Amino acid sequence: MHSDAKFSCAGTNPGGVPAKQKKILVRRIVRDRSQQIRRAVQLAFLALNAWIAIEFLLWTRYFESGGQTHYVERPAGVDGWLPIAGLMNLKYFLVTHHVPVMHPAAMFLTAVFLLSSLLLKKTFCSWLCPVGTASEYLWKLGRRVFHRNFVVPRWLDIPLRGLKYLLMSFFLFIVISMSAEALNDFLLAPFGIIADVKMLNFFCHMGIVGMAVVVMLIVLSLFIQNFWCRFLCPYGALMGLVSTLSPAKIRRDADACVACGKCSKACPSSLPVDRLLQVRSAECTGCMECIAACSVENALQLSLPPRRMNQQEPIANRWRHRALDPRLVAAALAIIFFALVGAARATGHWQTHIPQNEYMQLVPHADEYGH
Ligand code: SF4
Ligand code: SF4
Repeated sequence: MHSDAKFSCAGTNPGGVPAKQKKILVRRIVRDRSQQIRRAVQLAFLALNAWIAIEFLLWTRYFESGGQTHYVERPAGVDGWLPIAGLMNLKYFLVTHHVPVMHPAAMFLTAVFLLSSLLLKKTFCSWLCPVGTASEYLWKLGRRVFHRNFVVPRWLDIPLRGLKYLLMSFFLFIVISMSAEALNDFLLAPFGIIADVKMLNFFCHMGIVGMAVVVMLIVLSLFIQNFWCRFLCPYGALMGLVSTLSPAKIRRDADACVACGKCSKACPSSLPVDRLLQVRSAECTGCMECIAACSVENALQLSLPPRRMNQQEPIANRWRHRALDPRLVAAALAIIFFALVGAARATGHWQTHIPQNEYMQLVPHADEYGH
């Protein structure tokens, strides 16, 4: 660490003590690696999802061809793409204390994502979700090609952001209002059994309207940062609400900060990081882009609440064992994921156990079943 310059600045430290004093800019000497680590986790999860998609496609083709193609086991991880089934199963489990037989992996994966949001902000969206990853790469591509992204004006941004909460409330209302028996009946009906196949068919045999909507979302995502996630994703909305309870938050140390505003400029969620001591917003995804943009030692961290220190002690003491290193975030996400998935596997509750002849009857006629 070395001192580069002196600044005069009024601020308030995390302990609430007013500070009008000469400020010393201390540059970070250890390079921030949060974005490289986050990208590696994103790509690993994307690769996992691509593998699941290929396996599931082969599994579906086996039944559609009447057993003529090579058989592969159904990848239970595909249940991660059935968030409503995940919530239904979670409610069923909480009410009956029995692990549901249909799409149980959906419940375990929903629990993984809710737990990660509770402990580590909405990292599900910015570290794990393949749609979030695609959204991020699209706006970065848009910025590279067109040299800018557009910010939706506040008067439009706020009602648009409300859309995802409306969708989330609608789905939560349905799940909460159904009895455990009704949930069980729904998921054991043909529609529930092959909900995953119907989802695959939707993407593989998309109509003109579906295609127009997807193209529109892609185009909007090129120009507006995380368009889908910010305005429309009900799952992200739920994770965001849960994440407000997280003890880990982006925290700014007013004594170290030199008010350069780089963090706010870098924030894909357009949060005024440079004006907050802690970011409580449900829109904060824990992406750490703000931290990567900040060049000042101890000014900004994803952390637990700071230690209470007197003014004479070095700022670093406040954040010792409180700041969360991106490697720790990646490791914690991996532990939550493998612990719950491992527990489900070990107890025989990961796979859906449906006889092959039943799938043989249902899968080729998936589009005929409604709910
Ligand atoms: S990037 Fe943000 S936290 Fe870091 S010094 Fe600048 S204003 Fe302060
Ligand atoms: S405040 Fe920081 S961590 Fe939160 S969304 Fe903005 S850039 Fe990402």
